Amino acid sequence: MSDSFQQAIDASLPLLKKIQKSLKPLPRASGTALKNLGEAAAKRRAAAPAPSVQPPAAKSSLPATKWTFESLRKAVLACEKCPHLARSRTQVVFGVGNPEAELMFVGEAPGADEDEQGEPFVGKAGQLLTKMIVAMGFERSDVFIANVLKCRPDMPEGESGNRKPKPAEMATCLPWLREQIDLIRPRAIVALGATAVEGLLGDTSPMRDLRGRWLEFQGIPVMVTYHPAYLLRNQTITEKRKVWEDMLLVLEKLEKKISAKQRAFFTKSGE
Ligand code: URA
Repeated sequence: MSDSFQQAIDASLPLLKKIQKSLKPLPRASGTALKNLGEAAAKRRAAAPAPSVQPPAAKSSLPATKWTFESLRKAVLACEKCPHLARSRTQVVFGVGNPEAELMFVGEAPGADEDEQGEPFVGKAGQLLTKMIVAMGFERSDVFIANVLKCRPDMPEGESGNRKPKPAEMATCLPWLREQIDLIRPRAIVALGATAVEGLLGDTSPMRDLRGRWLEFQGIPVMVTYHPAYLLRNQTITEKRKVWEDMLLVLEKLEKKISAKQRAFFTKSGE
């Protein structure tokens, strides 16, 4: 070693010793200890609960359907998959409203009024549904309204009134509703009554177990509530409030502002 190099080392030594003192010693760990630590962390991650925060409902995308709204309407209006209903109907009731609606209402089947006018929910129950829609802050034309069955269920000769659609009729017609939902991709669907839930989701649970709950159809949240015809038969503030609470949940899902007045509808103070 040359003298000048030795002198340089001697000169640097005090500084190097100072730096060494100021450094915190690193923990010593064997390979096995490191492996054990890694495995424990992996176990903790696996045991941790999934994040509980649900993302807000958003317009989701599905593989593009082969339909446009107009081609679908044409096909549905010409449908004869249920020959008995094709014979008895006045017209097919496709559905009405905004093809880009964020909210969709699904009923069971057209009644006599709807069969005559070609539009869903235009009778007494429909007028109540329209009031509900307006109370929520929408126009009827903002949302989309459809039924599981697009034809009025036929009635025995000489009998008036409406009958419940049969499961086989709903299963035959469901693909049309599915296509409508695929095209609209609403952020939320309201299923009106047990028959609509059965037709849409195949769930035959009683309404007392279903009402006020979020279910799902093709990734879209479905709120189950009473059919407006039920409310016409049970006009108590308690039943009206139950439906209104379901609609408040829908408004929350859609991230809509809810006024204090809206919150109080069908309570003693906000009657
Ligand atoms: N009830 C329904 O379920 N749908 C209508 O269109 C009318 C009444």
